[in-house]
Amino acid sequence: MLRIRELSVHYGGLCALDKVSIDVEAGQFVAIVGPNGAGKTTLFKAISGTVGPSGGTIEYKGRDLLAVPPHQRPALGIAHVPEHRQVFPSMTVLENLQMGAYAPAAAAQWKRSLELIYELFPILAERGTQLAGTLSGGQQQMVAIGRGLANVPELLMLDEPSMGLAPAVVDMIFDRIQQIHKERELTILLVEQRAAEALESCDLGYVLETGRVAMVGDNQQLLNDKRLQQSYLGL
Ligand code: ATP
Repeated sequence: MLRIRELSVHYGGLCALDKVSIDVEAGQFVAIVGPNGAGKTTLFKAISGTVGPSGGTIEYKGRDLLAVPPHQRPALGIAHVPEHRQVFPSMTVLENLQMGAYAPAAAAQWKRSLELIYELFPILAERGTQLAGTLSGGQQQMVAIGRGLANVPELLMLDEPSMGLAPAVVDMIFDRIQQIHKERELTILLVEQRAAEALESCDLGYVLETGRVAMVGDNQQLLNDKRLQQSYLGL
């Protein structure tokens, strides 16, 4: 579904991604883990188009994604749930969710999408008229994921959904991500600093370090890797 080859991104003189190659098959759950500053968010921004690569290619369903303007990428079925959630604080929960459904195909399915979002996160149905900026961090994360789902994506990209959340809330969010993947058969690309949780959930994991792919493997290979256990898994 997604085929990234030798992707490089520079911010001025700083090389944030250095010839990164990543594959995501349809229906897979792929996790990208790595330390602060490894380039994980930059990778997502290159896929959704908010930063321009200095080299390399991104193919999505056989199509050159870099030739598609960023504002048209959601309509291809790519949803980016950004780091820090980035809900619209002075809009209601319902208005935030509906922002995800602006592409015509998604707008046509908005009512059904909303039912599915409320099924997944029933608390959002109770908070529909509340301003999103007044919600707890966990509820804002639910809004951010719900807004992504309102786009009726085929590829859901989640950037650090656990950030700043209490452990019980993190567990709930990871459970819901698994549920979305299994029940709705969505392809998931997850960036996480919580490597253990991310690798336990995924089919395939990539370890990104200082802008390069340092390791790739299925979840058992990575979870059992001694170096990874010491560096990222706290074992
Ligand atoms: P984190 O978990 O801290 O968000 P990350 O793995 O997502 O880390 P990026 O945010 O992609 O990493 O950052 C990769 C590198 O690029 C870092 O050195 C960062 O300081 C730098 N960087 C990111 N955004 C910019 C920017 N807009 N301008 C200049 N440098 C940037």
